[in-house]
Amino acid sequence: MSFGTRNTNSEQSNPNRGIGAARDWLYAEFVHAAETSGGRMTVEKQSYEQPKAARVPEPITVTNVVATLRGTQPESADRMYVVSGHYDSMCGNPSDAKCDAPGANDDASGTAAVLEMARVMAKYKFDATIVFMAVAGEEQSLLGSTHYAEQAKQKNLNIDAMLTNDIIGNTLGGNGVRDRTTVRVFSEGVPSNETQAEATTRRSVGGENDSASRQLARFIKETGERYVPRLNVMMVYRRDRYGRGGDHIPFLERGYPAVRFTELNENFQHQHQNIRIENGVQYGDLPEFVDFAYIADVARVNAATLAALALAPSRPRNVTMSNRQAYDTELKWDADKEPDIAGYEIVWRDTTAATWTNSQSVGNVTTFTMKGLTKDNYFFGVRAIDKEGNRSFVTYPRPQARTGAGGANPTQQTP
Ligand SMILES: [Zn+2]
Repeated sequence: MSFGTRNTNSEQSNPNRGIGAARDWLYAEFVHAAETSGGRMTVEKQSYEQPKAARVPEPITVTNVVATLRGTQPESADRMYVVSGHYDSMCGNPSDAKCDAPGANDDASGTAAVLEMARVMAKYKFDATIVFMAVAGEEQSLLGSTHYAEQAKQKNLNIDAMLTNDIIGNTLGGNGVRDRTTVRVFSEGVPSNETQAEATTRRSVGGENDSASRQLARFIKETGERYVPRLNVMMVYRRDRYGRGGDHIPFLERGYPAVRFTELNENFQHQHQNIRIENGVQYGDLPEFVDFAYIADVARVNAATLAALALAPSRPRNVTMSNRQAYDTELKWDADKEPDIAGYEIVWRDTTAATWTNSQSVGNVTTFTMKGLTKDNYFFGVRAIDKEGNRSFVTYPRPQARTGAGGANPTQQTP
C-alpha cells in the first residue's frame, strides 16, 4: 500500500507511485521467493494491451505477475493449481488513477497471502504444478484474470482448481460483529459453462449441488479444518456474494473449477472508498482495519489445500453411473496413469447433506458396485488416493449412455 495507489489506470513507470511500482516490487519478491526452489519456480510478467473500456479511459498495459512451481512427478506436472489475489486497488471511482487507494484489504490481503504461500512453498516438492499469481485490472471487470484464463484455455492447460483470495483481512464487520474464526468459501452449484445437454441431464438425475467447484469447496472445508482447526470454513452455495464477482469467474466460464475466499463480515466503509472522515467515521481501505493474524490463517487454509491437491493423484476422469433400474449402484471410471496411484474411494451422502458423509475404499479398480445402496436415494462420487494416502477431490458421475432397449439417449427418462 506504500505505492499510494495501485489503480490499474495509474502510472506504470514511476518507481515510487502507481501500479507499475507495485508490479515491479511484486515481481522482485516472487523472484526472491523462487531462489529457494532449486530452479523449479519461474516468475514472469504476463502482459497485454487493454483498449479503452468502461472503466479504462485510456489504453493501458495490464500485467499479471505469475510464479509457477513446477511439479516433480512427470506424469502429474501438467496438472495445475492456481491461487490468486489482485494487486490493483481503487478508491471511490474505478477510473480515478490519481486518488490514494491503499487497498490494504482489497486486495493487498489476498496478494500478500499468495506471495507468502509462494515464499514458503517454493522449497517443497509437489507432484503437480502450483501457480501463485497476482493479477491486475480486477476492479476494471476482471481484466487480468480473464486474460490468464483465456490464455490457459487456448493453450489447453489442465487447471484442475483455482482459488482466488479477495478481501480476506477484515474481522470487524460493518455489522459490528468481530469474527476471527470463520472464512467464507463461495462455490457455484450449476456450472457457469453448463451446456443445454448438461442442463437436461441435470434435471433428470440431479446434481445442482455437485459441480466440480462445489466438490472443490468440500475438499477445502475438510482439508482446511483438519490443518487449521481454529478456522472454520463456511461454505456458501453461491458463485460469489449476492450479485457480485471476482477473479474466479473467468475460470468458471471456461470450465475450470474455482472458488472464492472472503472474510465472514465485510465492512463497506473500508472498500472502494476515498480516504476521508465523515460524521466522525473513518472511510478508506487502511491497514489499521486489517487483522494480520487472520490473513495468515486464511493463507494456511489455502496452502494446506494446494499442498494436498498437488500431492494427490488427479481426480478420477470419465466417472459414470449405470442408468439401469437396479437396487445396487454401479460406477465406472478411467484408470489413473500416475505411478503412485493406490486406488479409489467411493463417497456418498444423503441428497440433502452438505458434505460427503461416507466413504469406502474399493482398491485399484475401475468399476465398482455398491450393493444395497440405490442411486435413487443417495448422491455418489469417486476420488483417487495415492500410496501415501493423499486424496484427490471428488468427481461426481454422469449417467452412462444407455444401450440396447433403453436407447442411446442418456437423458431419456423411464416413467
Ligand atoms: Zn477485490
